[in-house]
Amino acid sequence: MAHTLVIHGGAGNITPAMMSKEDEQAYTEGLQAALNKGYDILAKGGAAMDAVVAAITVLEDNPIFNAGRGAVFTKKGLNEMDAAVMNGKTLGAGAIAGVRNIKNPIALAREVMDHSGHVFLSGKGASEFALSRGFTQEPDEYFFNKLRYDQWVEIRDSDFYQLDHKADNLKGAPAPNPDHKFGTVGAVACDEQGNLAAGTSTGGMTNKRFGRIGDSPVIGAGTYANNATCAISCTGHGEPFIQSVVAHDISCLLEYKGLSLQEACDIVVKDKLVKIGGEGGVIAVDSKANGLFCFNSAGMYRAMKNSEGIEEVAYYG
Ligand code: ASP
Repeated sequence: MAHTLVIHGGAGNITPAMMSKEDEQAYTEGLQAALNKGYDILAKGGAAMDAVVAAITVLEDNPIFNAGRGAVFTKKGLNEMDAAVMNGKTLGAGAIAGVRNIKNPIALAREVMDHSGHVFLSGKGASEFALSRGFTQEPDEYFFNKLRYDQWVEIRDSDFYQLDHKADNLKGAPAPNPDHKFGTVGAVACDEQGNLAAGTSTGGMTNKRFGRIGDSPVIGAGTYANNATCAISCTGHGEPFIQSVVAHDISCLLEYKGLSLQEACDIVVKDKLVKIGGEGGVIAVDSKANGLFCFNSAGMYRAMKNSEGIEEVAYYG
């Protein structure tokens, strides 16, 4: 059997004009480190779920990505994180939403899957569960990031909220900061046994309010895995991704219509999502270890490595 790991670090208005050489180097190194960590597990015959969590953990620890340490600020100036994992073999899933001070939300999502008896925990309850399982908590300062803070300060007195790497906000007002370049993270993998796994972790959208939750932790919307079809992790403007149930819709097109992974992703990302104004993209892998990226935004931070010798790190469309 073949094996493949695909990862993303967010999609949005990512163009050569907004990336300096230093930025490109930082993203290349950040994505490559996560890819190597996860792929080593697959290359040694390890499980897809272990590879997904390992890769995402590296991205969460790197402040240039909007997840874990680099999570964006909410309307109240807090960092509230969402994450999910799904195991394609068992259809087991774990997710957390609106959690604070958790160093690695993806590990907590996996813990929910393995040890909570539930699928989806939120806010204080998720924190209680984390404490009961001995999870590392970090102080607010650990999550402080000057660039993210400045992005938030520029729009905190408005009703706007935005992707942290998007040049204009979601109500169409002039771009408050044309230099946004960070993103949500995710990984999908197919291991030697043909088992699939998916995971996604995010700080959500800058200036989000009222306990807003995006698509990332919603099983079937931002994250989904099923050995019978594919594993998907999404990134982009979460509201349309929830409305379109993106990840499960792609899986259904494989299962019920017999489409290829590429055909299914193209229909959902480049047609259905576009029609309701959903900007962003997906990473995907099927049970034959075919991996791909698909996005309707200017760019997506992304990387892929497989047992056929393909290795790729890219940003632009
Ligand atoms: N999809 C995420 C959310 O809406 C944001 C992102 O992908 O950057 O919370």
